[in-house]
Amino acid sequence: MSSPLSSSPTAALPVVIVGAGLAGLTVALHLARERRVIVLAKRNLDEAATAWAQGGIVGVLGDDDSVESHVRDTQEAGAGLVDEHTARFIAERSAGAVEWLVDRGVPFSPDPGGPLGLHLTREGGHAVRRIAHAADATGKAIHEALLAEVRLNPNIDLRVGWMAIDVITPHHLHREALPCCYGVYALDIATQRVETLPASAVVLASGGVGKVYRYTSNPDTSTGDGIAMAWRAGCRVGNMEFVQFHPTCLYHPTDRSFLITEALRGEGGLLKLPNVEGEAARFMPQHDARAELAPRDVVARAIDFEMKRHGLDYVHLDATHLGEEFLKSHFPTIHARCLALGIDITKQPIPVVPAAHYTCGGVVTDLHGRTDLPGLYAVGETTYTGLHGANRLASNSLLECVVLGRTCAETILGAPAVEQPALPAWDESQVENADEQVVISHNWDELRLLMWNYVGIVRTTRRLERAMHRIRLLRDEIEDYYANFRVNRDLLELRNLVECAELIVRSALLRHESRGLHYSRDFPNALPVSFPTVLGREARSRRARDGAPGTGGSTFGNSRCV
Ligand SMILES: Cc1cc2nc3c(=O)[nH]c(=O)nc-3n(C[C@H](O)[C@H](O)[C@H](O)COP(=O)(O)OP(=O)(O)OC[C@H]3O[C@@H](n4cnc5c(N)ncnc54)[C@H](O)[C@@H]3O)c2cc1C
Repeated sequence: MSSPLSSSPTAALPVVIVGAGLAGLTVALHLARERRVIVLAKRNLDEAATAWAQGGIVGVLGDDDSVESHVRDTQEAGAGLVDEHTARFIAERSAGAVEWLVDRGVPFSPDPGGPLGLHLTREGGHAVRRIAHAADATGKAIHEALLAEVRLNPNIDLRVGWMAIDVITPHHLHREALPCCYGVYALDIATQRVETLPASAVVLASGGVGKVYRYTSNPDTSTGDGIAMAWRAGCRVGNMEFVQFHPTCLYHPTDRSFLITEALRGEGGLLKLPNVEGEAARFMPQHDARAELAPRDVVARAIDFEMKRHGLDYVHLDATHLGEEFLKSHFPTIHARCLALGIDITKQPIPVVPAAHYTCGGVVTDLHGRTDLPGLYAVGETTYTGLHGANRLASNSLLECVVLGRTCAETILGAPAVEQPALPAWDESQVENADEQVVISHNWDELRLLMWNYVGIVRTTRRLERAMHRIRLLRDEIEDYYANFRVNRDLLELRNLVECAELIVRSALLRHESRGLHYSRDFPNALPVSFPTVLGREARSRRARDGAPGTGGSTFGNSRCV
């Protein structure tokens, strides 16, 4: 281990935020009134789920709406596993969250007669109109407005191309120390150097883990880094088996993440088998009386069933009968994007597959972003707060980022200080440059394919056990590679993906029922009483670079390091 970095115990250290999506930027802007903040983004700023969100954000604003009604809808979607206190806490603050975004200059679609002058739309599962939106690109509008403010704030140091590797805990220190998060090791991708970032608090806001599946609507950044980091640091994770699949993502060899909105089915688009002619090509009526208008999880399961039954790579979503003028005016983005890829949706059906869309589980936190380890916080899609239960209600995720981003920042500002010990620098003296990158690319593909085939929309115990066996082999191989070679982004992401894959499979094996997004052929019914799946463990040391074995965290600690 090389010499420790010295740090003054009295100088206030910055807060390090891992992630520049809505969760990370919200925390940063609230903190920056009083504190220095470093925000890390491992890829370009537009590679964040936030920037890709289309629909909108919930605001309980209308005269016909109420907190109770929103809580009820959230609970219904969450299939019995929503934490009512969490849902109410967030619903009560939803109007304030939308107002805060309006104050930041987010150009929501206007309606002079609407509450706050906003047009509210309605989405599946919501009893009333309560979704504030900026046409069909809400996430981009929110992200750009917050980024503009962040760039102007002298207290915020936004570092693009910096990837957090692990949080620094007592087990890195080689001596007794308070269980606390002391900072972050982060790879500066431009220089390929790993830097030690001491921090008074660390906030994990790194998004979900959609990339663990072969098909996903998520950006390349969604590799579960925050979940894996918190898990390695000894924090609990919850409800990892509940992965939301969007039924219709464009199937294309080079463009794998483009979502075909459910509104296209809402307007009359029909799902068809690609190799069958005429009315016989439709399959949804055989699966559900509501056919193409059945809920998201039902449609995703039906497509998965038909693809597996017929050995297909995709099915067709046919909207040609809706007419050129209608399609161009109502779905301009989809029309243009598909046309650029050689698919004219006014004349041809669109090849689609279901795709991993949202991670309902994650790092267990309270309503202030506190994890099990003092000084370590988490916000956004990285977390499990109890809001989403076994299935997420549309447009609740952006809301959760804003509401809990604020409470997290307030809690960090009010936390008592803890003395910061000197932190060891990252040690690569014993490692070599990677010999073959193919080990990483092969394992990436293998992991994502096996998760798709064995741990996808429809599960069986045998498939899950097979997946677990293979995941453990992959994990050992990746850990060995990690211990012996210099790190790079692909290797670090793969290490986190395999960690999260194991958490998903372990959680799925523990659930002996079908509920919400978890469907098992071996346990097709819901149990009368059900609980969240929470996995816990002690922090562990896997290799020399990590230092001596250490301690796990205490529950919801509230201190910070100075
Ligand atoms: C196509 C699509 C449409 C959606 N539509 C809606 C919608 O209409 N309404 C709604 O409420 N929700 C929607 N969602 C979900 C919602 O967008 C996300 O849940 C939410 O934006 C997550 O925000 P976040 O800040 O937690 O993560 P993200 O926005 O994903 O941001 C993660 C950030 O972390 C960074 N990062 C990750 N790992 C590291 C690391 N190791 N080191 C440094 N940086 C790291 C990334 O670079 C990125 O900046 C949609 C999601 C998708 C994919």
